[in-house]
Amino acid sequence: MTGRTKQDELIMKRPCESCSMPIETGTYCQYCVTPTGELQSFDERFEKMVGWQQRQKPGLSRADAERDTLAFMAKMPAWKDHPRVVALSVD
Ligand SMILES: [Zn+2]
Repeated sequence: MTGRTKQDELIMKRPCESCSMPIETGTYCQYCVTPTGELQSFDERFEKMVGWQQRQKPGLSRADAERDTLAFMAKMPAWKDHPRVVALSVD
């Protein structure tokens, strides 16, 4: 195989450690950081992700959106060790 394939382009991107969106550089995407480049607070991110869940799945209840969001955050390097995530992911 010669030349660049679609696969190569995918490998060049890496997921944001907070929301898994593909990014080219850094640790977090532009949506997960403050204007000064620091990771946003858990509450800020959580609120935005719950809102996103509810937009993706119209009719999803707030409780279900929160549960899905926490399940998602439990897999993300930026949040998996956060006390709020750990407390709710222990089964
Ligand atoms: Zn992100």
